[in-house]
Amino acid sequence: MTSKNVMDAAVMDRPLSINIKKVSVPEPKEDEVLVKIHCIGICGSDVHYYEHGKIGRYEVKEPIILGHELSGEVVEIGKDVTNVSVGNRVAIEPGVTCGRCDYCKSGRYNLCPDVVFMATPPVDGAFAEYITIRSDFVFTLPDEISFEEGALLEPLSVGIHAMKRGKVGPGDRIFISGLGPIGLLTIEAAKMVGVTEIYASDVVPLRREKALEMGATAVFDPTQSNIQKELLKVCSEGVSVVVETSGNQYAISETVKIVNRGGRVVLVGLPLVSDIPFDVPHLIDSEIDIVGIFRYANTYPIAISALQKSKSKLEEVITHKFALKDTKEAVELARTEKDKSIKVMIYTN
Ligand SMILES: [Zn+2]
Ligand SMILES: [Zn+2]
Repeated sequence: MTSKNVMDAAVMDRPLSINIKKVSVPEPKEDEVLVKIHCIGICGSDVHYYEHGKIGRYEVKEPIILGHELSGEVVEIGKDVTNVSVGNRVAIEPGVTCGRCDYCKSGRYNLCPDVVFMATPPVDGAFAEYITIRSDFVFTLPDEISFEEGALLEPLSVGIHAMKRGKVGPGDRIFISGLGPIGLLTIEAAKMVGVTEIYASDVVPLRREKALEMGATAVFDPTQSNIQKELLKVCSEGVSVVVETSGNQYAISETVKIVNRGGRVVLVGLPLVSDIPFDVPHLIDSEIDIVGIFRYANTYPIAISALQKSKSKLEEVITHKFALKDTKEAVELARTEKDKSIKVMIYTN
């Protein structure tokens, strides 16, 4: 039970403007829990809404609280909640689905048309002290897993989903294009499914260094080298899977040339343009499978048990830490210092 009725929240009134405001502490419904937030990562989407006020068809029309990568402690539960208790340390999956449509029932709930996803207009996110959420989207963290790792389960989930969609397993050799937080965490996801040869590329030196620290076999600078040629020098057998996270249109085009015949290409990064050329005869002749991914589904329990068993390097991606009151500075830093920052984390209490 919280004694407070009001809390601080970082509210974005309009693009490039975030102010700390007093808002009411939400009250959990019967099937919800109230979580005192510990930390929240800033996502590329938060920065994009802050800068442009919209992403595709989602537009910020009313003031909104951003943030959707979070962990915290359960402080109150609704009367029907049985899966978590007050005092539990938890990670929160930020999209609540209907549970009733064909997508939800078939296990592909990330495609649910009625999903209520945090920090996607008009739904508020979590740059605040407390949040309520339906209890089936709350996952208890064992002692071995830190709050920071708990918050990073959200971007890590995208990497895990990429492994599932790309049917990646221990025998695969993988190439990851783009080493922002999602690309770096995809290294971790690849290790989780048993991949031992992981190649990667990014234009930013800091990101390539981090990739090596996190276990990449070799890294490349796409502005300095012909990746296909350089890759074959260190990996003569070539790669069976390419995961594209940069969203760069040229990098997307290249994926089908980098992957081996019979390989799989997983497209994660969203490009700014809709028409991107592929060498289609080559794609057909080589039986290359291309899949897209949207968020993730059923990844939190897998990630928690995998992290519990092995020492992860997830926290390597955190480069900066801020207090909730400094959310605007934190988002500004994420926006303007892309060469020096990877994951910026906000601490709310
Ligand atoms: Zn995110
Ligand atoms: Zn649904």
